[in-house]
Formats: sequence, structure tokens, C-alpha cells
Amino acid sequence: MRVEAKQEVEGTNKVMTGADLLIESLVAEGVDTIFGYPGGAVLPIYDAIYRSEAPFEHVLFRHEQGSIHAAEGYARVTGKPGVVLATSGPGATNLITGIADAMMDSLPLVVFTGQVARGVIGTDAFQESDILGITTPITKYNYQVKQIDDLPRIISEAFHIATTGRPGPVVVDIPKDISADLTTGDFDNHFDLPGYQPTEKPNPLQIVKLAEALGRAKRPVILAGAGVLFADAAEELKEFAERYDLPVATTLLGLGSYPGTGSQALGMAGMHGTYAANMAIYESDLLINIGARFDDRLTGNLEHFAIHAKVAHIDIDPAEIGKNIKTDIPVVADAKEALLALLSADITQPDITAWNEKIASNQQAFPLWYERSDQLLSPQWLLEQIYKETSGKAIVTTDVGQHQMWAAQFYAFDKPNRWVTSGGLGTMGFGFPAAVGAQLACPDDTVVAVVGDGGFQMTFQELAVVRERNLSVKVLIVNNEALGMVKQWQGSFYEGRYSESLFGFNPDFVKLADSFGVRGMQITKEADLPAALAEAFAYDGPVVIDCRVVKQTAVYPMIAPGKGIHEMIGVTK
Ligand code: FAD
Repeated sequence: MRVEAKQEVEGTNKVMTGADLLIESLVAEGVDTIFGYPGGAVLPIYDAIYRSEAPFEHVLFRHEQGSIHAAEGYARVTGKPGVVLATSGPGATNLITGIADAMMDSLPLVVFTGQVARGVIGTDAFQESDILGITTPITKYNYQVKQIDDLPRIISEAFHIATTGRPGPVVVDIPKDISADLTTGDFDNHFDLPGYQPTEKPNPLQIVKLAEALGRAKRPVILAGAGVLFADAAEELKEFAERYDLPVATTLLGLGSYPGTGSQALGMAGMHGTYAANMAIYESDLLINIGARFDDRLTGNLEHFAIHAKVAHIDIDPAEIGKNIKTDIPVVADAKEALLALLSADITQPDITAWNEKIASNQQAFPLWYERSDQLLSPQWLLEQIYKETSGKAIVTTDVGQHQMWAAQFYAFDKPNRWVTSGGLGTMGFGFPAAVGAQLACPDDTVVAVVGDGGFQMTFQELAVVRERNLSVKVLIVNNEALGMVKQWQGSFYEGRYSESLFGFNPDFVKLADSFGVRGMQITKEADLPAALAEAFAYDGPVVIDCRVVKQTAVYPMIAPGKGIHEMIGVTK
């Protein structure tokens, strides 16, 4: 993640409130959007926003959870930190899921929470909650501001920490008296963090080891993760993979780090990955992991993961190396720096023609498949049609579950940072507000929120925001009247006991959209879909399309719990 040079706020000697100081600091950080919701403890801050002529916009969401997922969507597509503002107590606790989500997926957020006045902290004051205690395990760092003149420095540090090294969420808790009090402005935003120095440049000896291993390899494969995207290294990855003819598998969050339709692309690996990607990892003799954290959804049973391979792992966070998988060649570095070093290293072209032929034959023999329904709407076909209608160029956000996996499988991302999904925490309710944030960040892009009927019911209140601002987000509800992934697991591993996973009632999503002044459509048959999609994407405004899909369908291939990456089920019909 590249950080732009910041302005300095120094010694202006004006009399101003702490809240004004906060606004000045945000301007100095180049903030253009604040995702927020007001309340008692942040009234001085909202008053300062009202009075301010600062060049940023505050977007009022209808629930704090919506605001923070929107900030995550914004951060994912721009690479810039998402800035969130909420009040103390319930305002702050409503942000917890989003903070945990951002922590799991390494998204840069700076989250400002109001706090009760310093004099009453610890007295169970109205709307008091110990947000520092609550967020300590789910933030990269957190602060409570104790002195008004510390504000500029703390804010500068918060932005620096959120966006450098391995990105992550930082919370800044501001007691109400600090934002209300006056200061003369005798302050500055310089900071010094000697204990926080992320390693960006790779150790040259490790690069030599990796170069030698690659020259000798017979069955190498690259595993590309989100770290490639955070490092802005997609171009370097493409050059490296194509120069040496290396096959590239991606993680769920690494989609787009190498073009999905590129010559070396194997697609996603892992629990719902392609046969070719998973077998390439299983059979490889050199696995080059660039910016992936070997999550369990990716690896399956660790005892079977890449067991024939020498493992090289490039990651900016040393704590990730060797955490899950024994690593032979550790490279602690920014992925771009490591790839640049590899591109200028002396590497013998490996002799891998036979390996690439084997991979190509796996791709041909075992492609992704699904059963196309006679007339009804197959969800996988729906995703293929969205790809076609948007020429593969949309920003796609998803919720969590079956539709998320189908989007990952059937929408090929050729460009980085167009894919916005909740990977590590698996947060239902994420997809739609994340699309709102992405659309605010990229007003000229087509933004599609692919959501389930379950997830959409958790955060659909943000339709008010898209209506208010006429944001052109297209919401596609993959509606199977069930919690599809839960149902799939109950079907496969709990003998079909569908405990509480089937909805007895769903709202009429067309009328629901209508009640927000948003255009609603419903599709029940394949034949109606292409025209409906064309109309929806041509329409200049938000649309909700309720797509009634075939109910009995599962995500395949699948690695069952406890099984190895080579033990997929549902590889063929
Ligand atoms: P992250 O978790 O974001 O990790 C990124 C890594 O890059 C971190 O180790 C970080 O330290 C490092 N990094 C950050 N910045 C840099 C930098 N500048 N340079 C170098 N390194 C950097 N995932 C799959 O892959 N396959 C599946 O089949 C799958 N199925 C799923 C099913 C469901 C229903 C859900 C909800 C999730 C599923 N996931 C799957 C997602 C999975 O849980 C993880 O979120 C995902 O595998 C993590 O991908 P990642 O390691 O690339 O990204």
C-alpha cells in the first residue's frame, strides 16, 4: 500500500476546538469521504463538520455497520484508508463486526469513536463502553486521546499505521470534552515510531535461494494472495509469471492479482477452487506463495498440503511465515519489492513444459461445471451472464455463502481491486454496503452487489443512501429462500436435517426496493434474464433485481472438512 506524502499541521496559533483540530488533521491526511453516524458523544465533531468548509464529504448511513462495510469497500477499491466516525457506546459497538472483518482481511481503516468525557470514564456513564478493551484483539492499533494537543500526532500515526506494512484497522477514541475544549493550536503532527518499522526490502540472500530453487524446479506454481494487491504488484506478478511460464493459482482475496483470463491463470485454489489449481499445488515441487496467509479454507488438511513442495513464502508480516505451513524459503518483504528483486535476479529458465502440459490437460478435463436448468434460473449461469453483460469490467461485491463462491468461480477479474468480498471473517451483510462504498469511491464505474436473500436482509437499510445520492449500484439477489451454504453443509454432512436454514418468509424485494424509491425487478426464468440485465445496467440509477434461482444446487468442487487439497468432491457431474 503506497502512502502519499501528507501535509503537516503545525503551530497555527488559532483558537479552535478539539473537533476543529480533528477536521484539520483529516484534511492534512487527504481524506475525501467520511462514513459515519452521529450521536451524543460526537456532537462537537458533527458541529465542526457542519461549520467546516473542508473538502471532504460525510456520508450518513442508516446503521453504523453499514458505514464501516462501506468504508471497507472504499478501501478495497481505492487502496486508501476508509474513515469511519461513530458515537460512543452502541455507535462504537455497532462497528465491531466491521472492525473485525477489516482486521481479518487486512483492510486499512481509521475509525473514530466518541467517548464520554474524561472525568466520567469508568463510571458506567450514559453510552459508555470500553471500546479500547473491546477492540484490542481486532485492531492493528488503538488509541484513546488523553490530551487535546495530542490529536494531530495521534491522527497522523493512526493513518500511518493503518496504511503501511500489513494494512489494518486503527481505532481512535475521542472523549467528548477533548473534542469540545478549546486549544490555541500550539501543536504539530510529527511522530516517531522506532518500534514500528515494517520490512519492505527482501533479504538478497533469500531472493538468490528462491531464484536457484526456481531454476531447478520441475513443477513450480505461484499462489497469489491479497498481498500482491496491497503491494500494487499485479504488473510485476504478470511479468514474472509469464517470463518463466509459471502457472498462477489465486486465493479468494487474491482474485485479480493475476488476470483471470490470463495465459497462466488456474483460477481460485482451496475449498471451492478449481481442480487444476488444487492439483497444481498438491503435486508441485516448488510453491511460491506471494502475499497469501495460508488460510484453512485454502489449505484444507495441512497434512496433505503441498507435501511434495519446497515452500517459498513472500509476506510483509513475519508472523505469517511458518504460522500454518513449514516454510523453506522465507522472504519477509513487500510483494512488489520481492517481485522486482526476482525480476532482476539471474534465474535459469526452468524445464517445465511437461508440467504445463499436465496442468493444461487437467484444465481441459475438469473445468468448472454446473447443471443448467431447463427454464429456471441456474445461479452459476446468472453469474456468467452478469460477467457477459458487464464485459468483465464491473466492480463486484458479494455477501457470504454460495453466491460468493459462484461469483469467485464464474466472474473472471482481469484487473486488480475490482473484487470486494469478506474472506476471513465471512461476514453476512457485507456485500451491499461495501458496494455503496465502492460506488462512492468510483462514481463512474459499474458496481454490482451480488448478495444472498439472507445477507441482504441484514443491511438493506442502506438502500436509503443509494436513493438519497442516486448511486447506480445494481443489487442482484441470488434468492433461493434459504441460507444456501448452511443448507449445503446440512445436506452433505448432517443427513439433510435443514435446521433453521430455510426461510418461511421473505419480503417482496421488488416492493421493498420500491418503498425506498429504488427500481425493483424480479426474474424467475432464464429466458427473461438477458433483457432484464441489459435494462438494469443501462438504467442510470440503483436497481434491485430479485433473481429467483434453482433451490437445489451446490457449490462444487468442494474439499470436505478434514480432507486434503487433492480430495475434492463434485469435480465432475
Ligand atoms: P489475506 O487474508 O488478506 O492475507 C493477505 C496476506 O498478505 C497476509 O499474510 C498479509 O500479511 C500479506 N500482505 C499484506 N500486504 C502485503 C504486502 N504489501 N506485501 C506482501 N504481503 C502482504 N479462500 C480461498 O483461497 N479458497 C477458497 O476456496 C475459499 N473458500 C471460502 C469460502 C467461504 C464461504 C468464505 C467466507 C471464505 C472462503 N475463503 C476461501 C477465504 C479465506 O477464508 C481467506 O479469507 C482467504 O483465503 C485469504 O486470502 P489471502 O491470504 O490472499 O488474503
